[in-house]
Amino acid sequence: MGLVVQKYGGSSVADAEGIKRVAKRIVEAKKNGHQVVAVVSAMGDTTDELIDLAEQVSPMPAGRELDMLLTAGERISMALLAMAIKNLGHSAQSFTGSQAGVITDSVHNKARIIDVTPGRIRDSLDEGNIAIVAGFQGVSQDSKDITTLGRGGSDTTAVALAAALDAEVCEIYTDVDGVFTADPRVVKKAKKIDWISFEDMLELASSGSKVLLHRCVEYARRYNIPIHVRSSFSGLQGTWVSSEPLVRKTQQQGDKQVEQAIISGVAHDTSEAKVTVVGVPDKPGEAAAIFRTISDAEINIDMIVQNVSAASTGLTDISFTLPKAEGRKAIDALEKNKSGIGFDSLRYDDQIGKISLVGAGMKTNPGVTADFFTALSDAGVNIELISTSEIRISVVTRADDVNEAVRAVHTAFGLDSDSDEAVVYGGTGR
Ligand code: ADP
Ligand code: ASP
Ligand code: MG
Repeated sequence: MGLVVQKYGGSSVADAEGIKRVAKRIVEAKKNGHQVVAVVSAMGDTTDELIDLAEQVSPMPAGRELDMLLTAGERISMALLAMAIKNLGHSAQSFTGSQAGVITDSVHNKARIIDVTPGRIRDSLDEGNIAIVAGFQGVSQDSKDITTLGRGGSDTTAVALAAALDAEVCEIYTDVDGVFTADPRVVKKAKKIDWISFEDMLELASSGSKVLLHRCVEYARRYNIPIHVRSSFSGLQGTWVSSEPLVRKTQQQGDKQVEQAIISGVAHDTSEAKVTVVGVPDKPGEAAAIFRTISDAEINIDMIVQNVSAASTGLTDISFTLPKAEGRKAIDALEKNKSGIGFDSLRYDDQIGKISLVGAGMKTNPGVTADFFTALSDAGVNIELISTSEIRISVVTRADDVNEAVRAVHTAFGLDSDSDEAVVYGGTGR
C-alpha cells in the first residue's frame, strides 16, 4: 500500500460535523495501510467572507496583506482536522504550506508553485503520522512572504504534493460525485464521467468547470499523476482523470477499456467581464500597445475580438474578456496609458457569460460547430464573441442566458442522462 494524497474542499469541511466525517474517511485510508497526506481548504465560504471583510476596510487591499488574511482560513481547518483525527485515536500533525515546503514565485494572490520540498511531511509520515497540509498557500522563494495560489488553489497544492511525494493517486474530495457532463447545479440531467483525459479536463477546467482547477490538471499532466475526483459525502467511485483510459472489469467481456466520448461536456463561466476599447486607430502596433499595458499590470486575458474598422474614420474597436476581479485594474491601467495608446473611450460590461463545448472528438466530427450554434439559436441565445481550440468551442452571451444555453446545448448533444443522477451534497455554489 502506497502513499495517497487526499484533498478536501471547503464544502466537505464546512462545519464541525463535516470535519469529523472527513477525519473518519482519512483514518479509514490509514487503516487500509496507506500513508495519508490530507490537503484541506478553508471551511465553507470562509475565503469569500474574508475577501468581503478586506474590501470593507480597503477597496483594493494590498496583495501581501490579503494573502496573510486568506491563508488564515486554511490554518483553521487544518488544525481542527488534526484535532478530530487525534480524537479518533490516530496521530496527526498539521502543516502550513510553508512548513510543507510549497515554494512559490512572489506574485501575491496568484502565485505559481516553483518547487516542493516536503522533507517535514516525509518525516512526519515516517513517524507514523497522518500529515494535514493547508491548501492554497506557499512561501515566496525570493521575498519569503506568504503567498496564495489563486482561487481554488488547494487542488494544485494536492497535486503538487502528490508529485513531490510520488503518490499513487491524488484524490480530490468535493460536494459532487465526480466530473459531470455539465455543472450538476445547472443541469439536473448531467451524467457522471467515469474517465476523462487530461486534455479534455484541462479545457473544461479552463472554461469554468471549477470542480478542478486548470493549473492542478496541468501539473498532474506534467508529472503524470492520476486524479480521482469523488464525493466526501458518498462512498461512490468518482471520475478518473489520467493519460490512460480506465480499464473496467466486466463479467461478460473481461477487461474493457472505458472509451472517451466525442463530447466530454459543457462548461460555463460567469466570472468574466468584457472590456471594449473604443476608437482605436487601425494601424500596426495598436493591439500590441493595449495588450502590453494589460500584461504589464499582470492581468491574464481570455478572448479577443477586433472589429473591422469604419472606412470613414479608420477607427476600430477591440474587445477582450478577463476575470471580473481584474476589471478595475485593467481599466485603471488603460486609462493611465490613454494618450500613449490613442483610443476614444472604454466600455466595461460585467453581465456576460461564457459557454464552452469540449471534446477531443470534435477534431474528426465536422458537424459539431454547426450543431452547437443551432442549439444556441433554437434557445434564442445571442452570441457576442466566439473562440475555438482544436477540442473546444466557446461563445460569450448575456449572463442571464447562460443556464438556459448550457441546458440546451447539453440536450442537443445527447448528453442528458435518463435518471437524475447528479446529486449536489453540499456547498453554496459561491
Ligand atoms: P470544493 O469546495 O470541494 O473545492 P468547488 O466548489 O470548487 O468544490 O467545486 C465543486 C463544484 O464544481 C460543484 O459543486 C459544482 O457545482 C461545480 N462544477 C462545475 N462544473 C462541474 C462539472 N462539470 N462536474 C462537476 N462539478 C462541476
Ligand atoms: N480556500 C480557497 C478558495 O476558496 C482555496 C480552495 O478552496 O481551493 O479559493
Ligand atoms: Mg475547488
